[in-house]
Order: sequence, then C-alpha cells, then structure tokens
Amino acid sequence: MPAPPSPGRLTVITGPSGVGKGTLVARLLQRHPWLWLSVSATTRTPRAGEIDGQHYFFLTRPDFEQRVSTGGFLEWAAFAGHLYGTPRGPVEEHLAQGRPVLLEIELEGARQVRLTFPAAFQLLIKPPSFEELERRIRGRGTDGEEAIQKRLARARVELEAEAEFDAVLVNGDLEAAVAELERLVGLDAGMTPLP
Ligand code: ADP
Ligand code: 5GP
Repeated sequence: MPAPPSPGRLTVITGPSGVGKGTLVARLLQRHPWLWLSVSATTRTPRAGEIDGQHYFFLTRPDFEQRVSTGGFLEWAAFAGHLYGTPRGPVEEHLAQGRPVLLEIELEGARQVRLTFPAAFQLLIKPPSFEELERRIRGRGTDGEEAIQKRLARARVELEAEAEFDAVLVNGDLEAAVAELERLVGLDAGMTPLP
C-alpha cells in the first residue's frame, strides 16, 4: 500500500480590510491551483458579485451560532459588526490529503489558530501607508461609509499586532508582492507540488 501523504502546510493570511489580501490570494491560486483556499462562513450580506459557497457561505446569525455551539468552526470572530468563521471539516480534510491550505482571516481568528495549529505559518499583509489603505478601501467601492470607518479603526489594531506574525509582506507593487508571497508560502519556481 502506498504511504499516506504527509499532512499539508497551513498558512494564515491576515491584514487590514482593503490591503489586497483577496487580490494577492486570487493571483496565487491562479498560479498554484493545488493550493486550497478555505471558504469562510459569515453573517454579513453578500456584496455585489459575491456568490454563496464560493466567496463565503452566507449564514443567518442563528445558523452561525448553531455551528459555533456544535464545534463546526476551527476559529471564529466578530468583525465590524458581523461574525466570520472557518468551517473545520474541509480544512482538516485537505491538510490530511497533503494539500497546502490557506486561511484568509482577521486578527482574532489568527490568534485562535496560533493556539490550535502552532505549526501554521502566519503572515501579515501591510499597506505601503495608511493613506493608501484608505484609498484602496474607498476605491474598491463595496462598503458604505459606516463599514469603511469600522474597517479603518480595526486596521490600526491589526497593524499594531505585527510582532505576533512569522512574516510581514508590504503589498505595494502587486507583481512584486505576489512573487514575495509565493516565496513565503514556499511555492516559488520549482517547488510547486503536482496534484
Ligand atoms: P482585501 O481582500 O484585503 O480586503 P482587496 O483584495 O479587495 O482587499 O483589495 C482592495 C482594493 O485594493 C481592490 O480594489 C484592489 O484592486 C486594490 N489593490 C489590491 N492590491 C493592490 C496593489 N498592490 N496596488 C494597488 N491596488 C491594489
Ligand atoms: P470582508 O467582510 O471584507 O470580506 O472581511 C472582513 C474581515 O473578515 C477580513 O479581515 C477577512 O480576512 C476576515 N475574515 C474572513 N473570513 C474569516 C474567517 O473565517 N474567520 C475570521 N476570523 N476572519 C475572517
């Protein structure tokens, strides 16, 4: 019988809303389809173009709380007035298959994962400046003013937690940041595992 695959590596990507996490991760997944990105659950309403089951699992608050009470989340947290959580089963299954797994989550969730998966690689994405972060959140055009203010307030706290992370990546020039992300996640040229 062939030996079972060795467990995949878990990478946690955190950073203020609007810093470009989604953009960077999408580029990484295009280049490395063997990577698996966890789809989170949330109680926030979908933005234009967001698809249930693809961008998030959009749950009602009672449904989310039910899943919390049955241990269905690897981690979960409140962010800007909504709840967000990582469904536990799919992450464990993909890691057991030997696939590298990415979580794109906020700071409190990253802290929980640090306790349950101490071997996970934790990466903080930073903007070149706070002014540029604000420009990106506003330029994205997906959030109302109240949501933007909550996200900017939280951004300061997330950026102050820099010392907790294994590595920090400044998302200035996008191409350079994608290349650096590949290197940090261990997927630079020649290292991509075949599916
Ligand atoms: P997050 O997932 O962190 O909330 P997004 O990926 O949605 O952030 O990016 C927020 C906005 O910033 C988007 O409009 C995106 O196109 C833009 N953006 C992302 N990376 C860069 C970059 N390196 N330079 C300039 N704009 C960027
Ligand atoms: P957004 O509403 O902009 O999609 O996400 C808001 C914040 O929630 C982002 O910082 C994002 O990384 C974080 N987030 C998304 N999914 C999860 C999750 O499953 N758990 C936690 N803790 N945070 C999440």
